[in-house]
Amino acid sequence: MGKRKKSSKKPVTKAIVPRLDTTFDCPFCHQLKSVSVTMQRSSVPMRGVLSCVTCGARYQCEIHALSEPVDVFSEWMDAIEEVNTVREER
Ligand SMILES: [Zn+2]
Repeated sequence: MGKRKKSSKKPVTKAIVPRLDTTFDCPFCHQLKSVSVTMQRSSVPMRGVLSCVTCGARYQCEIHALSEPVDVFSEWMDAIEEVNTVREER
């Protein structure tokens, strides 16, 4: 069996990433595609920054090399949920 060797620089690990969206719907003002995520991969530590162009909501969190904008967005969702939970607990 002849094994074909491809000269690949990076191992291909991304198999199930459907779309790399960088804009999302805002949970505060409910504008569609109003939140844009910036991945600051050159800063140390790497950061994901998102902001809503409509209502000005902002959030940032630490990311790692394999993070995608959607990860930053879901972190934000978690953070919001936490805040809401704390508020509702009385
Ligand atoms: Zn908004």
